Amino acid sequence: MIIRTIGIVGAGQMGCGIAHVAALAGFNVVLTDINVEILDQGMASVSRNLDRQIRRGTVEGAERDLVLGRIRTSTHLKDHVTSELVVESAVERLEIKAEIFRQLDDNCPESTILASNTSSISITKLGTAAGRSERVVGMHFMNPVPMMRLVEVVRGLDTSPETVAVVNDVARTMGKTPVECADHPGFVSNRLLMPMINEAIFAVAENVATPQAVDEIMSLGMNHPMGPLALADLIGLDTCLSVMRTLHVELGDPKYRPCPLLTKMVDAGRLGRKSGRGFYIYPEA
Ligand code: NAD
Repeated sequence: MIIRTIGIVGAGQMGCGIAHVAALAGFNVVLTDINVEILDQGMASVSRNLDRQIRRGTVEGAERDLVLGRIRTSTHLKDHVTSELVVESAVERLEIKAEIFRQLDDNCPESTILASNTSSISITKLGTAAGRSERVVGMHFMNPVPMMRLVEVVRGLDTSPETVAVVNDVARTMGKTPVECADHPGFVSNRLLMPMINEAIFAVAENVATPQAVDEIMSLGMNHPMGPLALADLIGLDTCLSVMRTLHVELGDPKYRPCPLLTKMVDAGRLGRKSGRGFYIYPEA
């Protein structure tokens, strides 16, 4: 199966990052979201990130307009009719993703592969929602997408080996390294990462250390490139909370209970970088 056009649903930080690397790799991209303002902001962020790569010398200046020209935006899911592969990257909520998968199945040709960039939601459930479970797969990119090499490829219970082979090839064409795992809450990446972030939040809530001290201990002591709380702010505290809730509900083990401070911060709208405040303050947001 030859993939020429990749659809992306959701023009947030991850959807825009995926659009960026897909267009840079030569794919045509259809990027959709619920309104035009979000799409305009998304395209502005792709453009800024391309400029940064040009300044660093990792992308040729002449490529800029070609890459941007490969990305078409729309507020209609039916515009994914021309996509051979759609990567859903909307908010981390099962009911929203399931509805998107139902609509994509209605609007896309039978052969279209439907992937999700979900951090934790069952690929098998999304396959059932779409009704084409053999062509539904997890394609879990890491943040920031242009910089991170991994794509965690998640096989739902009925995902076909052909589907997995196609998305592995697409990931490689984007310059990424695909690594496969089975569908299980949090897959591998977030089953390990999120409980660490949640525990770091407990340490702050229990006054063991300030956020700065927790992050310094983990970056200087464990050689992590950034501390867990700075990383939580980058990911988005709403996404971290959704992942912890999925782990807690699906695995039924109290060790995955979300820290109440995390819940309180999300309730207060402190979502991290994207809202301007999380464990740290981001005046530029
Ligand atoms: P985000 O909040 O930046 O963006 C989410 C986007 O989804 C928003 O633009 C929103 O308008 C859009 N959206 C909401 N409902 C929609 C709908 N019905 N149709 C189309 N678009 C809709 O979130 P994000 O950080 O980009 O995360 C997106 C997905 O990627 C989530 O599933 C998340 O778990 C996953 N993910 C996030 C990270 C991370 O570090 N943030 C890493 C890997 C995977």
